[in-house]
Amino acid sequence: MTYDHIMVRFGELSTKGKNKKDFIRVLARNIKSALSEFDGLEFDVKFDHIYVKLNGQDYAPIVETLKDVSGIHSLSLVLKTSEDIENLKKVCLELIKQEDGKTFKVHAKRSNKAYPLISDQINRVIAGEILKNTSLKVDVHNPDILLSIEIRQEGAYVFTKTFKASGGYPLGVGGKIMHMLSGGIDSPVAAYLLMKRGISIECIHFASPPYTNIGVIDKLKDLLSKLNKYQAKIRLNIVPFTKLQEEIYRVSDESYAITLMRRMMFRLASKLAQRRNIVAISSGESVGQVASQTLESMSVINDVTNMPVLRPLITSDKVDIIDTARKIDTYEISIRPYEDCCTIFAPKNPKTKPSLEKCLFYESKFDYESMIEEALDNIEVMYISKEEELF
Ligand code: ATP
Ligand code: MG
Repeated sequence: MTYDHIMVRFGELSTKGKNKKDFIRVLARNIKSALSEFDGLEFDVKFDHIYVKLNGQDYAPIVETLKDVSGIHSLSLVLKTSEDIENLKKVCLELIKQEDGKTFKVHAKRSNKAYPLISDQINRVIAGEILKNTSLKVDVHNPDILLSIEIRQEGAYVFTKTFKASGGYPLGVGGKIMHMLSGGIDSPVAAYLLMKRGISIECIHFASPPYTNIGVIDKLKDLLSKLNKYQAKIRLNIVPFTKLQEEIYRVSDESYAITLMRRMMFRLASKLAQRRNIVAISSGESVGQVASQTLESMSVINDVTNMPVLRPLITSDKVDIIDTARKIDTYEISIRPYEDCCTIFAPKNPKTKPSLEKCLFYESKFDYESMIEEALDNIEVMYISKEEELF
């Protein structure tokens, strides 16, 4: 006897009414897209679960794929069968015989209240049948095998195997953000956390050729193709940053270069977001990590934008960030050597407590507004997608 469906349980459903409908609609769409390479699957979208009918497909790779779809709390391999109690006795007995273990518990639930037996009666009948025909013992507290039965309008679902999934919200229900993607370890991890929260990303990268190696673009593409697991198609905007950087070095004291550079990055990201009808920006910053990530620096840098700036890693330890980077398979790509615009221009003594007045003073010495417009007009756009097509 084999399982013929995967039952998908939703993640955090604090949402109600129309929001819940949207959540389910978007999740169903994301599930279908994630499973598009598997032939012959059928989907049954209900108010509290989504069922994937396997039609003979091997469940293992499908379960692995679904574990990474955000908005799914858990998955169970289920057998859909007739709710007739005699049939259930037979099916449950056969299923439990395939399992390893010495103890069991039956957990029945009925959403079809017209069913002639209440949950407790179903538990007793099925457990009785198993006790009579096997050497298994009942353990209600810590059973080796938990046999669950759900009686619904359309039939009964029986299952013993449940897998935890990633949780979070379906990608897209949280809108879209303009994410600042460097080639480092942190920003891809921050992007992943945003996506898990249901926010889809568009990326912006500040490139400083010839100071920074063009290999960085390949690196970004490789990083994003890992993130395609969570978002099938990602737009990457490469902004020419060299001229602005050179001007900053010309007009300012070296110790202010990083602060001024980051103020320009935030201006560019916010302006591009606005052009693209995106209302927030995000980064991989983590408080205390480097000079530009003190509260004082962040305050001066943040001063250039009114947009919310999401920093999912703000309180994370580097070791935990690295753990996540390994989990999502971006770590090895991130540590490939390359020259980042910040490392190339990194001053020896960056300010940890920059003053806003000084920033404004240095910025008054050159026409950065028109340079920002020029940079935005010369963005190179590429799409990184699951199929590795470039649109
Ligand atoms: P990361 O590992 O993400 O590079 P980091 O610890 O090296 O972060 P910084 O270099 O100070 O820290 O950068 C902080 C954040 O600013 C990055 O996480 C990223 O969001 C953004 N950022 C830095 N450099 C660039 C760049 N060249 N293009 C786009 N975003 C950048
Ligand atoms: Mg960096």
